[in-house]
Amino acid sequence: MAAIELDGVTKQFGNLTALQGVDLTVEEGEIFGFLGPNGAGKSTTINILLDFVRATDGSATVLGHDIHDKSKAIRARTGVLPEGYDVYDRLTGRQHLQFVVESKGADDDPDALAERVGIADAIDRKAGGYSKGMQQRLVLAMALVGEPDLLILDEPTTGLDPNGARLMRELIREENERGATVFFSSHILGQVEAVCDTVGILQDGRLIAKDSVEGLREAA
Ligand code: ADP
Ligand code: ADP
Repeated sequence: MAAIELDGVTKQFGNLTALQGVDLTVEEGEIFGFLGPNGAGKSTTINILLDFVRATDGSATVLGHDIHDKSKAIRARTGVLPEGYDVYDRLTGRQHLQFVVESKGADDDPDALAERVGIADAIDRKAGGYSKGMQQRLVLAMALVGEPDLLILDEPTTGLDPNGARLMRELIREENERGATVFFSSHILGQVEAVCDTVGILQDGRLIAKDSVEGLREAA
């Protein structure tokens, strides 16, 4: 089964065509890199997959469900690191994690999650006092709750220092080994090459290539 399938997805914002007839299949178990410059339409694609934005034309499925029919079922099995993520300044890291654990009906241990992303020492501090990198790690830990079948990471390494970026790659590999499909968007080729099996290149709202990382290297 495909983890993600887009079929002729087009999105207009007024006169602007953000996506134009995008066909894309991401197979289960893949680490897929969604590569494209700023403004290419990556976040719009992700927002459509999450049913936050409605496509002008075309259809899409996530984990076998039509994105409109079963968005609740999709959300319970999907972990998301949104690009414009927000934390609640007055809540502690632990409170953030407990909230997601409860709302997903999962049984993860907040301390273990914080440990995995390297913020164990800060778990009982308010997230408003975290650095940007720590906030991003917290949101990543929230995405890992409940062993999701699909992880959608929008520019997850932007704003991280080299250690943070390495940790991100390690976690992506671990999650994939556990069985998760990973959809990883980035505007940096090197970050996609370092961890992905397959890559799709989006430019001006069109998918201009999709291949294995090796295939793209040979073509370049
Ligand atoms: P990126 O292009 O790297 O995804 P942006 O800052 O362009 O980041 O977008 C951040 C958010 O703002 C996204 O959810 C996007 O849908 C929205 N957005 C982007 N451009 C516009 C725009 N021209 N008008 C309104 N919302 C926008
Ligand atoms: P990327 O994530 O690849 O940087 P986006 O999907 O954020 O690209 O944006 C694609 C294009 O659509 C950009 O030109 C952006 O300004 C525009 N856009 C995105 N969201 C909106 C929105 N809500 N309203 C108007 N334009 C938008």
